[in-house]
Amino acid sequence: MAKTTREVACSFCGTRKQDAMMLIAGEGAHICDRCITQAGEILAEELNLRKSKALQTTLKLIRPVEIKEHLDQYVIGQDDAKKVMAVAVYNHYKRLNQKVEKDEIEIEKSNIIMVGETGTGKTLLAKTIAKILNVPFSICDATVLTEAGYVGEDVESILTRLLQAADYDVTAAERGIIYIDEIDKIARKSDNPSITRDVSGEGVQQALLKILEGTIVNVPPQGGRKHPDQKMIAVNTQNILFICGGAFDGIQKKIANRLRTQTIGYKVNAEDTDIDLNNLYKYITPQDLKNYGLIPELIGRLPVVTYLNPLDKGTLLSILTEPKNALVKQYKKLFDYEDIELKFEEDVFQFIVDKADEFKLGARGLRSICEAIMLDAMFEIPSAKKGEQKELYISLEYAKRKFEKSDLKKLKAA
Ligand code: ADP
Repeated sequence: MAKTTREVACSFCGTRKQDAMMLIAGEGAHICDRCITQAGEILAEELNLRKSKALQTTLKLIRPVEIKEHLDQYVIGQDDAKKVMAVAVYNHYKRLNQKVEKDEIEIEKSNIIMVGETGTGKTLLAKTIAKILNVPFSICDATVLTEAGYVGEDVESILTRLLQAADYDVTAAERGIIYIDEIDKIARKSDNPSITRDVSGEGVQQALLKILEGTIVNVPPQGGRKHPDQKMIAVNTQNILFICGGAFDGIQKKIANRLRTQTIGYKVNAEDTDIDLNNLYKYITPQDLKNYGLIPELIGRLPVVTYLNPLDKGTLLSILTEPKNALVKQYKKLFDYEDIELKFEEDVFQFIVDKADEFKLGARGLRSICEAIMLDAMFEIPSAKKGEQKELYISLEYAKRKFEKSDLKKLKAA
């Protein structure tokens, strides 16, 4: 008996049973744990290769109108930004599909910069675009970046995130989209007369230039600081689309000043013009970005400038109920899992919108207010006896009571 055990060995590498951690038996054959791991690695590598090749040949060109139609399902309003983004992304992917012959016209990259108040849908737009294009997408925050050698993250770390989103498939990552949020926070601090270097402002802008333009960057696969012994992954950023977003607080004043001087130049009476004073972002130009503290070289690498409108109460109401994954629809789905139909009194929506508007939190406030109203129900209902309750009706009175009880109320008092 002992003899036969000793004879069992891996049919691939010949390792005997007692030398292997595990030996799995098949029909008339065995395989050891090491061979399984190795075969797994070969398979993963091959699949990755095929995926990359497939991506190269099948990058589907989605037309701007289709891109906008898709965006409309998730993002309310912001038509101008949607149009500009749809065209820029379409051109970008046309460029990716272009097989550049020697003297053919080379289409340049169309990196985008979006300007608009916080919570108006900048990130949502970038995210939704990436979803339809089926390319890796990552978000990073410009505020954590610093010039190499200083406390903070190296600029290359934005590529680490994209690599991670692409499951370390470099070819896929090289066609991805990176959204850099809060780009306004790295504006040059021109009013600061100090002699210290501006390592989180202009220094970062300088470091971003090359990456935005297109170059081969050695990226630390796990992020963090680069150090000499680390294995790096080379990533070519030439075909990566960069979308930057920022609120650019105070830029309205600069725009207004510019418009005023222009207006005076042409018309005697400023009131004769049809400038929309409630939404000056509309008139943003690269010149305003320069005045705000972005260096001209960086602005040059972000040739597509667009803006987002502030959200009025009507838009907030639509955001709450209309998009494909609107908050109200999400809560209904959550209760659906408990076999409970969730219903709202119509006035509850207006109450939520009024509160969100009061707190000046943009669309982000809607979520916190909904949570405050729904928390108790979401806490208690899963433990209630199944089948006992078939419906949950949120009346205005219930919503007001739960809201008054919540911490958000205190936020307002503060
Ligand atoms: P920003 O990047 O401009 O600060 P976000 O895109 O992160 O804002 O928006 C915050 C949240 O508000 C999103 O998750 C989304 O649910 C909602 N939101 C904001 N604007 C819109 C909009 N125009 N349409 C639909 N939802 C929106």
